[in-house]
Amino acid sequence: MDSLRKKRYAPGSAWRQNLSRFWSGAIYWDVDMAEYCTFKVGGKAEALVVATGRTELESLMHWLRENGVSWQVIGRGSNILVQSAGFNGVIIILGGRFGAIDPVDDPGTEGQEVKVRVGAGCSVAHLVGWCARRHLRGIEFLVGIPGSIGGVVCMNAGAWGSEIGERVVTVTCIGQEGVTRTLAREQLDFSYRRLQLNKGSLADSIIVEVVLRLHPGTGEEIRAQCREYMNRRRAKQPMGAASAGSFFKNPSGDSAGRLIDAAGLKGLRRGDAMVSSRHANFIVNTGQATADDIVALMKEVQQKVYLHSGVMLEPEVHLL
Ligand SMILES: Cc1cc2nc3c(=O)[nH]c(=O)nc-3n(C[C@H](O)[C@H](O)[C@H](O)COP(=O)(O)OP(=O)(O)OC[C@H]3O[C@@H](n4cnc5c(N)ncnc54)[C@H](O)[C@@H]3O)c2cc1C
Repeated sequence: MDSLRKKRYAPGSAWRQNLSRFWSGAIYWDVDMAEYCTFKVGGKAEALVVATGRTELESLMHWLRENGVSWQVIGRGSNILVQSAGFNGVIIILGGRFGAIDPVDDPGTEGQEVKVRVGAGCSVAHLVGWCARRHLRGIEFLVGIPGSIGGVVCMNAGAWGSEIGERVVTVTCIGQEGVTRTLAREQLDFSYRRLQLNKGSLADSIIVEVVLRLHPGTGEEIRAQCREYMNRRRAKQPMGAASAGSFFKNPSGDSAGRLIDAAGLKGLRRGDAMVSSRHANFIVNTGQATADDIVALMKEVQQKVYLHSGVMLEPEVHLL
């Protein structure tokens, strides 16, 4: 958040003036979203605010609804692309208390579950390290995923045969009407890279807190597991390149990377956007790619894979 520079207030639409009267925290106007996503590229957002506590976020949600202003919450921006036309509305980032981790139970003995309450703004890296230091097992598979807990749960992120949904006990979220509710596991429907409600919708809600189910292990086994997963990533993925990880979802029973590779698309470029030659399901920004370049490359890959194999790939990355 340090990189935020407060922008000049841009007069114009009435909601902008109303928002600056209503919101006591900083508002950043006409923000270049390249700074907030791992693709390192993206259009501008009209406004960006950092919410630091539940009460202020509840009232912000209520205000946005009352004023008919579009909004989007983001975590670490590792699975989004803001298109070149930009985002008309308010981008919300969770800071402050939303980064907290609190044990719900005392550390258990071998085999016993331990519940941990995690703020949605907490980074995966911080949570994995926190758990490793307390010898808590169960989320090592997340190591190397550069997201926030809110983003990981919203995406039901996973790797190496595990998904975060398997660990979730409750999800607390704030809806558009500004009301906080806690949803039990039975009310949640986790599927491949997706979280939905069994009844109703989460589409207009912000996840603010998650309780995870972990179990005790030893520091040595946790560190060894994390090392192994990181080594696997280093061997397969274009580490350090600006990307959003796997661009497309794997179709049922197949892998998007295999299909893209089989269509001969490794190295395919649009401007500085390129299909990684290391991992075909990664689109990388090799320098000065625009969001339009990435979207054009995405469409070309979809078309060519469809012609080659008859499969229409679905993006995993959320286009805003
Ligand atoms: C190098 C690299 C490797 C990756 N490896 C993996 C991997 O192995 N497995 C995997 O599953 N993914 C992987 N990803 C993709 C990405 O890291 C995950 O999808 C991650 O969960 C996104 O988290 P985020 O906080 O960055 O979310 P963002 O990208 O900021 O947002 C993603 C979506 O989640 C929503 N969202 C974010 N926070 C909240 C919230 N608090 N409440 C409600 N909705 C919210 C956003 O609105 C958006 O729709 C990788 C990405 C990169 C760049």
